[in-house]
Amino acid sequence: MTSTSAAAQARATVYGYPRQGPNRELKKAIEGYWKGRVGAEALRTTAAELRRATWQQLADADVDEVPTGDFSYYDHVLDATVMLGAVPARHREAVAADPLAGYFAMARGTQDVAPLEMTKWFDTNYHYLVPELGPDTVFTADSAKQVAELREALALGLAARPVLVGPVTYLLLAKPAPGVAGDFDPLTLLDRLLPVYGEILADLRAAGAEWIQLDEPALVQDRTPAELNAAARAYRDLGALTDRPKLLVASYFDRLGDALPVLAKAPVEGLALDFTEGAAANLDALAAVGGLPGKRLVAGVVDGRNIWVNDLQRSLTTLGTLLGLADRVDVSASCSLLHVPLDAAVERDIDPQILRWLAFARQKTTEVVTLAKGLDRGLDTITAELAANRADLASRAQSPITRDPAVRARAAAATEADARRSQPYAERASAQRTRLGLPLLPTTTIGSFPQTGELRAARADLRAGRIGTAGYEERIEAEIREVISFQEKTGLDVLVHGEPERNDMVQYFAEQLTGYLATQHGWVQSYGTRYVRPPILAGDIARPAPMTVRWTTFAQSLTDRPVKGMLTGPVTMLAWSFVRDDQPLAETARQVALALRDEVNDLEEAGTSVIQVDEPALRETLPLRAADRAAYLAWATEAFRLTTGGVRPDTQIHTHMCYAEFGDIVQAIDDLDADVISLEAARSHMQVARELASHGYPREAGPGVYDIHSPRVPGAEEAAELLRTGLRAIPAERLWVNPDCGLKTRGWPETRASLENLVAAAQAVRAEL
Ligand code: GLN
Ligand code: ZN
Repeated sequence: MTSTSAAAQARATVYGYPRQGPNRELKKAIEGYWKGRVGAEALRTTAAELRRATWQQLADADVDEVPTGDFSYYDHVLDATVMLGAVPARHREAVAADPLAGYFAMARGTQDVAPLEMTKWFDTNYHYLVPELGPDTVFTADSAKQVAELREALALGLAARPVLVGPVTYLLLAKPAPGVAGDFDPLTLLDRLLPVYGEILADLRAAGAEWIQLDEPALVQDRTPAELNAAARAYRDLGALTDRPKLLVASYFDRLGDALPVLAKAPVEGLALDFTEGAAANLDALAAVGGLPGKRLVAGVVDGRNIWVNDLQRSLTTLGTLLGLADRVDVSASCSLLHVPLDAAVERDIDPQILRWLAFARQKTTEVVTLAKGLDRGLDTITAELAANRADLASRAQSPITRDPAVRARAAAATEADARRSQPYAERASAQRTRLGLPLLPTTTIGSFPQTGELRAARADLRAGRIGTAGYEERIEAEIREVISFQEKTGLDVLVHGEPERNDMVQYFAEQLTGYLATQHGWVQSYGTRYVRPPILAGDIARPAPMTVRWTTFAQSLTDRPVKGMLTGPVTMLAWSFVRDDQPLAETARQVALALRDEVNDLEEAGTSVIQVDEPALRETLPLRAADRAAYLAWATEAFRLTTGGVRPDTQIHTHMCYAEFGDIVQAIDDLDADVISLEAARSHMQVARELASHGYPREAGPGVYDIHSPRVPGAEEAAELLRTGLRAIPAERLWVNPDCGLKTRGWPETRASLENLVAAAQAVRAEL
C-alpha cells in the first residue's frame, strides 16, 4: 500500500442526509400523526428506524464519520430553536404540555396561534422556520435531541459527529419577535447565547462526542465588520472552553471571503469549506492565509446541491493541493445531502446511458469515500473507479443529448436585437391600449384556478390508462369552459384559461421540452413534509411542438374578451430544476429562453393579445454575494427579453412575481421590459406600489389586492381601500386589479366570492375617478 501523505489518514464524511427514507416513510408517519392515525410513539419509532438505516447505509459505504442531529421532524433551524430554549412566548404553553405537538404547532400554527415564519434556506429550495428573538429572549440549553441521536449512532459502534446550527448563523437568520422593534439586532444576543452553546457542547462531550460540527453558512454571505467580529468572538469564546468536543466549523454554498481569515485564526480544531466550482475562490484564499496549520480541513469537493457525477480526477487534484495546506484533509460533499434525492439507482424510466451521469445522495456518498480512499492510499487503489468515472464523464460530454448542433447554432446566433422589442415601452403601451380597449383599472387573475380533486383524478386516470388522451382532454376542456364562463359572468376584463392541465408550473413545460429529464423518485424536501421532484436540465433544450397553444386558443374560442396566454419564464425553469454543470447557467437559460420564445410567438400567431411569462424565481436565485449579482441579473433579464422580444408592439407582455420585497432587483424588473407586472401586495398593504413609484417604475403594475395564501374572502370595500392606496402611488392609467398569485391552492367557493368582490371593488373605484 502506498501512502501519499505522512499526515493523518483522510476520512470520508457527510454533513447531513435526506431525512424522508426510501419511500418517504417519514412524511407518511408525520402526516399520519397530524391526522391522529399514527401515535407519537409509533412516529418516534419510525424516525429512529430511519436514522439507524441511514447511518448503517453510510457505514456500509465506508463513511468514516457519520453525522448525527441533522435528522429533523420538520426543520433543523426549528430544532435549534428548541435546543436553545428560544420557543416564542405564544407557543410556550403548548410545547410544555406536549413537546411533539407543540413542535408541530410552531411549524404549522394552530387555529389560534400563528406558526413561525418560513423562508428560504440561503439560495436553496429548502425552507426553514425563522427564529423570533428580542431583547428579553432568555436562552436555555436543551441538548436532549442532540444527545439522544448521538447515543443512537454510538450504540451502533460508529464514529459520529453531531451537527448543529452555529451560533452566529442562528442569530443572523433570526428576526425580531412580534412586538419587538424592527431595528432590533439579534446579534446583540451573542453573549447571552454562547454560554448556552457551551452547556450543549459539554453535554455532547459527556455523551461521547469527539468532534462536533457547527454550521455557519451565513458566513459565506457579505458580512459587515461587526458581524465578522461577532464570529471571531463566538469562536474565541467557544474555543476557550475546556469541557468540549473538538470543533469543526462548517461553511457551504459559497466562498468564505472575509470570514476565512477570521475562522482560520480562531482556536477551533477544524474548518469545513466548499471547493465546488462556485466556491473555487476558497482554494486561493486558503493558500493566502497560509493554510490551516494544526487544523483539520474537511474539503467539500463533491457538489451537494446538484445531481451530476463528480469529476473524480479533478477533485483529486484539488485535494492534492489542499494536502499541503492543513494538518489533515478529510473529504465530504460541499453541503448536506438534504438538497439532493436519495438514490439514482432506483430510477427505472431513465435511460441507463443517462443514468450513469447522475449521482444522488447515495452515489455522492460513494464518490466521497472513493476520493478519501484515493487520497489516503494512493490512486492505484481506485483505478477501476477512476476509469469508470472517466467513461461516465466522456459519455455525457459526447452525447447528442448534451450537444445538439441545431440548438447550439441557434443560441450562438441570437443577437442583442432578438432580445429587444421592436418599439420602446411608451409606444407599445398606446398600441396595446388601442388593440385591447380595456377600461381603467382592468381586472385579471394570475393564471391558475382551483386545482380540484377531479382534475388530479383525471391526470391519475390518464397515467393509469383508465382514460385515453381524448377522454382526458374532454375533462380539461370542460374545466376551461367553466373557468371562462365564470370569469365572463363575474366581469373580469382579461381572462385566463385556468391552467387545469398543469401538474406544476415547471414540470408541465419540462415534460414537453427535449433535453429535460423527469425522475420517478427524486424527491427533495422543500419544507416540513412537502417534497418536490425537480426535473433535470440534462441536455440541450428544444421545443418539438407547441405546449400551451391548444388550451389558450380553445379558451379564446369561447369568449370575445382577451384570454391571457400563460408561460413559466426561463429563470424560474432553471431555478426549480437541477441545472447543468457542464456549461454556464447563462447558456442553459438562453436555450430555454429560445424554446419559450417559439411558444410566445406561436401564441401571438394564434391570436393571443396578452401573454404572461411568470418569473417568481427571479429574486430567489440572486447570488449570495453582492459582487456576483450584476452578472446574474444580466443573463437572467436577457433570457426573459429573449423569450418575449419577438412579439409585435401591440401584444402585451405581462410578468408575475410572488414576493413583496424586491428593492434590490427593481432595476432588473425594469430591465425585463415587460409591459405589465403583477406582484404580491395584499398583506403588506400595497407596499410594493409605493416602492415601484419611489423607484420611478414607468410601466403598468398590478399589486395584489387579494391574499390567496388563506381561504379568507376579502370584502369588496377592503379591496377597494387597497386600490385607493395603490392609486396614491400609481396613476389609474397604469394600475391593474388582480389577486396576489394564482388560485390553484384555493377552493372554488372562496375563489368565486373573492373574485366577485375584486371586480366590485374595481367598479366602485373606477366610479370615483
Ligand atoms: N401562473 C401561475 C399560477 O397562477 C403563477 C404561479 C406562481 O407565481 N408561483 O399558478
Ligand atoms: Zn405568484
